Amino acid sequence: MQELNKGRYNVTIISPRNHFVFTPLLASTSVGTIEFRCITEPVRSYSNSISYYQAQCSNIDFEKQQVLCTSRIGESTFMLLLEDGESFSLTYDALVIAVGSYCNTFDIPGVKEHAYFLKDVNDARRIRKRIIECFEEASRPGLDEKRKNDLLHFVIVGGGPTGIEFSAELYDFISDDAIRTYPEGLVSRARMTLYDVAPQILGSFDSHLSEYTHEKFKRKDIQIKTRRFVDQVEGDHLVIRNEGKVPYGLLVWATGLMPNPLVETLSDRVALDAQNQRMITDGKLQVLKKVTNSMLQNVYALGDCAKIENNDLPATAQVAMQKASYLAKGISTTTAKTTPAVTNFIFKNRGMMAYIGSSEALVDMSSVHERAKQSGHLAWYLWRSAYFGMTVSTRNKLLIACHWFLTWCFGRDISRF
Ligand SMILES: Cc1cc2nc3c(=O)[nH]c(=O)nc-3n(C[C@H](O)[C@H](O)[C@H](O)COP(=O)(O)OP(=O)(O)OC[C@H]3O[C@@H](n4cnc5c(N)ncnc54)[C@H](O)[C@@H]3O)c2cc1C
Repeated sequence: MQELNKGRYNVTIISPRNHFVFTPLLASTSVGTIEFRCITEPVRSYSNSISYYQAQCSNIDFEKQQVLCTSRIGESTFMLLLEDGESFSLTYDALVIAVGSYCNTFDIPGVKEHAYFLKDVNDARRIRKRIIECFEEASRPGLDEKRKNDLLHFVIVGGGPTGIEFSAELYDFISDDAIRTYPEGLVSRARMTLYDVAPQILGSFDSHLSEYTHEKFKRKDIQIKTRRFVDQVEGDHLVIRNEGKVPYGLLVWATGLMPNPLVETLSDRVALDAQNQRMITDGKLQVLKKVTNSMLQNVYALGDCAKIENNDLPATAQVAMQKASYLAKGISTTTAKTTPAVTNFIFKNRGMMAYIGSSEALVDMSSVHERAKQSGHLAWYLWRSAYFGMTVSTRNKLLIACHWFLTWCFGRDISRF
């Protein structure tokens, strides 16, 4: 939207969320290292020459070039329902589908109802509230010892970057702030356990960096339990195969992605990847039709909901942004009304980063140079500098810098409201 030629196109954005969320710093907001508004950018503030409707696209009529929408003025969560709200439709000349994905629950009973996800600001807000709630409830007089221990058991399912970064931020909160603000006897009960079905955590990172994180977490008494299957989740415990019931106070679920319901609705007309149900596009990001695999005229898809045929790129903001920039430039510079770029999209992998707690991070740029890997405090400076630089607006850059400074001076705020 930012890079499209607004003199040439009337641009309309349809999204139930009226703001962009800078997800790399989402985990930091879930414990209060920075505040929620530091990472959101209102859609309308990008440009006053676009139209924005707070609605959800519920279906697309490709023949009539029409998008069917449902108004979504209420509070949004990533698990949106497709019912209620007023309906309306809009016609298009060119359509870009970038609806992202949902958290994958693998249909495990109880996950949707009891687990906390970390995909949006609302999720981070709920997690922050729950952490404080666990500490406050555990400090209630007369509560039995077991219940106190259970409430202060924080469980994370998923050892990818999201699960690791959340664990790291929670560890910082407990060791820097909870220790100062809650009675010592209470904080010493706090435990963290991270479960993953894979044999190792951070599988997408270089193996040395993954082992480094494992070692650091071990020293912090964060238990890492790999090759574990969650069979069921209840309100106060989860059931691990061959291990039995594990009580918890907070369960954060960070196990990967599943398709957005809109993609499922379109599955009778568009080609989907058999493995992860993403929409398949050609190298110019044009959506392919089901069965024939011919392209749908003037319909493009990018981000977490799409995949280029025979080119499996990770579902990251880095890929989404590069595709978006490629597409915007392509359709802004060609002479025909909505013809795409001439050359195919090429991804330039700039590497990965993750925060691992206690002012340490990982930087894995082995895709750029074999030896470009870093861990520890220097990597943390790189991690902070990179994400500070990528933050979109100057306003948020200032807010983030202020909150980092305030947290360093006074600690995180533990008010619950
Ligand atoms: C905690 C966390 C940390 C991350 N850290 C990194 C990182 O450090 N580096 C990195 O590269 N990537 C990171 N990612 C991944 C990155 O956020 C995603 O890959 C990226 O946001 C995908 O962009 P997208 O536009 O496809 O989807 P999204 O950013 O999910 O945006 C989808 C938009 O579509 C809207 N929408 C949904 N359904 C509909 C509908 N039916 N109609 C209309 N609108 C709809 C949503 O409200 C949303 O506004 C992280 C993700 C998370 C959750």
